[in-house]
Amino acid sequence: MFEKILIANRGEIALRILRAAKELGIATVAVYSTADKNAMHVKLADESVCIGPPQARDSYLHIPALLAACEITGADALHPGYGFLSENARFAEICGEHKITFIGPKPEHIRIMGDKIEAKRTAKRLGIPCVPGSEGAITNDVEALRVAKSIGFPVLVKAASGGGGRGMKVARTAEDLSVALSTARSEAKAAFGDDAVYLEKYLEKPRHIEIQVLGDGGGRAIHLGERDCSLQRRHQKILEESPSPALNAKERADIGGIVAKAMREIQYLGAGTVEFLYEKGEFYFIEMNTRIQVEHPVTEMITGIDLVNEQIKIAAGSPLLIKQKDVIFSGHAIECRVNAENPSTFRPSPGKVTYFHPPGGLGVRVDSAVYQGYTIPPNYDSLVGKLIVHGRSRTEAMMRLRRSLDEFIVDGIETTIPLFRTLVRNADIQNGDYDIHWLERFLDAGGMGET
Ligand code: ADP
Repeated sequence: MFEKILIANRGEIALRILRAAKELGIATVAVYSTADKNAMHVKLADESVCIGPPQARDSYLHIPALLAACEITGADALHPGYGFLSENARFAEICGEHKITFIGPKPEHIRIMGDKIEAKRTAKRLGIPCVPGSEGAITNDVEALRVAKSIGFPVLVKAASGGGGRGMKVARTAEDLSVALSTARSEAKAAFGDDAVYLEKYLEKPRHIEIQVLGDGGGRAIHLGERDCSLQRRHQKILEESPSPALNAKERADIGGIVAKAMREIQYLGAGTVEFLYEKGEFYFIEMNTRIQVEHPVTEMITGIDLVNEQIKIAAGSPLLIKQKDVIFSGHAIECRVNAENPSTFRPSPGKVTYFHPPGGLGVRVDSAVYQGYTIPPNYDSLVGKLIVHGRSRTEAMMRLRRSLDEFIVDGIETTIPLFRTLVRNADIQNGDYDIHWLERFLDAGGMGET
């Protein structure tokens, strides 16, 4: 087992990793930018190293600074969390070259899944159902039109290097298509430095359902059921739940089985998530994330399995000891991503948290790095924390979420807590009757009142 893990991240995920490491008896090293010198992950780690100024590219993304921090502290492993360098295959390789274990998948798998065209090709080969679309990158308008006509309009132009919902454009008619292609291309070029795009059938009312997997790199792999992340704004997840209100046990076992088999075939190592759109009983692969995800706690709550603990043990060379039949799904879990944003306009609201009272009680978990008196810096994403509830049934979880949100007090900044208070009282949400466009329709219709 490792002696010391360096956590190359910040915020709630840095704390999450720290907790798992401590429970395994492993020492921890926090790294921080000058904007984060008062951050909770720095206070709770055994050691800490300042790695640079506030801009992420000069600190949390600065590979030489991270390697130097490992060197100075003698860390033998590095956990990248999510975001930042977590899906950078070259970084994973560099860690290996410096005899630091990267707690994540093999670089080759990060690389394949980081290129969405390659990812789709691989998924198809492994027998995972995919969204109908172009075979590879689209190089010209004539080809695009031919593919679009064969799959049928509307179509979606997507960036091969895409992420965070950027570089995606819908074309409803042949006339829209060349504009959609050129805007998606220029957005992709600006955001990812790569203008390769591909075409997919645009699904009108799908749900976003993803399968959590764990593999040990030696051919053992299991799935841990699904998460339904259909509640989104601008392709960003807002609320996640497990199990999905839309799936039955057979559908879960079937798609989970297909995914776990695929992971065994490629000898996947670590935690990963295979993302699908789901419409009219069919699954369509969209991408795979080769890292721990923000919404992983809902899976932990219904399975009792600590995913970060498993990541660490697998990275240290342990075989996967959990068998598929040992994974028992119990009850229902829901997560709300509480952001430091205005709940109607979503304008960021960093600043000093003058009062912080998280909810508690049976089945309530708050993963947050915020404390009273802490000043949320404006330099990073606006996640204040995650509220996760667990109940024996979906109804119990919903009622628990409702009372937890009512208890949650964060003063001094604006947060999205009022948005969730409204959502849990909405009949569609209570009934689980929503697709990936539901939230935008709700907000456009003035669901949050005057802004
Ligand atoms: P990113 O990596 O940018 O997050 P994804 O491929 O994961 O991109 O897609 C993000 C979201 O965009 C999905 O959750 C879904 O809401 C929407 N989306 C992606 N592909 C399609 C599609 N073919 N049809 C309809 N919506 C889609």
